[in-house]
Amino acid sequence: MAAKQLRIVPLGGLGEVGKNMMSIEYGDNILIVDTGIMFPENDMLGIDYIIPDFRYILDKKTKVRGIVITHGHEDHTGAIRHVIDEIPVPIYATQLTRGLLEVKLRRGGMLENTTLNTVKAGEDVQIGPFGVEFFHVSHSIPDGVGLGITTPAGLIVHSGDFKFDHTPVDDWPTDFAKLAEFGGRGVLLLMSDSTNADSPGWTPSEAVIDPGFDAAFAQAKRRIIIGTFASLISRMAQVAKAAARHKRVMAFVGTSMIENAKIARKLGYLDIPDDLIVPLDQALKMKPSKVVLMCTGTQGEPSSILGRLSKGTNRQFSVSPGDTVILSSHPIPGNEEMVHRTINRLFQQGAEVIYDAIAPVHVSGHASQEEMKMMLQLVRPKHFVPIHGELRHLKQHAHLARDIGIAPKRIAVVENGTVIEFRDGKMSVGDRVPGGYVFVDGSGVGDIGPIVMREREVLARDGIVVIHLHFNRKTGALIGSPELVSKGFVFLKDSEELFDQAREKILEVIKGSDEGDLNSKIEKDLSKFFYNKTKRRPMVIVLSSEAPKSS
Ligand SMILES: [Zn+2]
Ligand SMILES: [Zn+2]
Repeated sequence: MAAKQLRIVPLGGLGEVGKNMMSIEYGDNILIVDTGIMFPENDMLGIDYIIPDFRYILDKKTKVRGIVITHGHEDHTGAIRHVIDEIPVPIYATQLTRGLLEVKLRRGGMLENTTLNTVKAGEDVQIGPFGVEFFHVSHSIPDGVGLGITTPAGLIVHSGDFKFDHTPVDDWPTDFAKLAEFGGRGVLLLMSDSTNADSPGWTPSEAVIDPGFDAAFAQAKRRIIIGTFASLISRMAQVAKAAARHKRVMAFVGTSMIENAKIARKLGYLDIPDDLIVPLDQALKMKPSKVVLMCTGTQGEPSSILGRLSKGTNRQFSVSPGDTVILSSHPIPGNEEMVHRTINRLFQQGAEVIYDAIAPVHVSGHASQEEMKMMLQLVRPKHFVPIHGELRHLKQHAHLARDIGIAPKRIAVVENGTVIEFRDGKMSVGDRVPGGYVFVDGSGVGDIGPIVMREREVLARDGIVVIHLHFNRKTGALIGSPELVSKGFVFLKDSEELFDQAREKILEVIKGSDEGDLNSKIEKDLSKFFYNKTKRRPMVIVLSSEAPKSS
């Protein structure tokens, strides 16, 4: 078969922000890059998180030689347990990324049986036919890498998530020299982070946040609560420094935050003196003006700590008037509405809320347009595939590539599941493999499909009407009038007239229908009826029972 062909199959992160995963194949060998999750959008009810659909690799899992993880963010690491469970191959990651992966594997009881290899930026590792060179990139978490992957078909450069920060928190800028060296060697394909492709100019350095924190800390009279992502290790370091400058101690709140901080400190990626950190219960007993609490929940998730604080339902502590809440984050596309609701509620609780739209308390970890162009110029690839972003970001990134002189036919904008093939140094877009969503709900994986999601959406939006019909078992005639029960649709008392009309409508349908599936006909017609009357379309369910002969 097509044994000597290079194939790139994106399984997540192309056409969306999140759940990054990619399969790189040569002959009978597969290398997986990243295994991320995505958090549900607010119309995905009851879903905890989403993992990539990697059925495609399961069919050829004996060919997988290894998994490389570029950095410790959830959208690159979060699905590791699900993937390793099915494909138990060695994992390669830098020290901090490995530490964060270990937390996840241990929680799943899978750490003992998993082979983890620690790599350093600047090192090379041979994985099957793939010579993988890890190079440092600056991002919003330390120890992030991009990959130079030498295959028999040519050199591939994968940027990971990156920005060109000259004053990063960890003092370790992106390895420009390596990128230029790749360019000199000749690069068959560049795949580069598109997250901020619609932001012109340069992404500000992480260093600009320090004065933003200083201004907020100087004004804060009482407790300071800072919300961010649990894996934004760089931000933890910045908060710690600001706390020290303003004579406050800090406490981490929430399991993931505490665990990540512990790992990062243990491995030397988070330099916070012991006396600056106190446990939460101790912090809560201290004078509010001496304390900074750091927690998660900046995306408006109702069950997160910030979400609970905003509703006054957090158990351990609550927001008091005069407290300062800083959201050091930016809403992920799709979450804006929920985030704004959380901010409004925090204001209602009496907090002073500071967020990135009104003060420099957050910068992106991703490259803007000028950095993207610089990446393209340094690497000077023969072919280009934008990765990590919604379709609009990928398209915009492709425009930039064209601007710097890459021929359109050498650029491929594709979404998850689209196969990209290289034969004799030429790129072509091939067929499509599954690359959709797998919903994880409680402990269940993949048992929630689009139909269930649609039903949940209808139930949440327009409610439900249950119609109960009793029939005479002998004659088949309807006994009495239909019983209607509604939940979440209209308030029954105010709608007697509507329900009377609905009953008449039901009788009409029963009269007019011969045999067939009466229940589904009533469901369909009544759904239409309710829509015409109310402009809402509740879920309609008919339950019919046969009464005993005697009645
Ligand atoms: Zn990232
Ligand atoms: Zn990412």
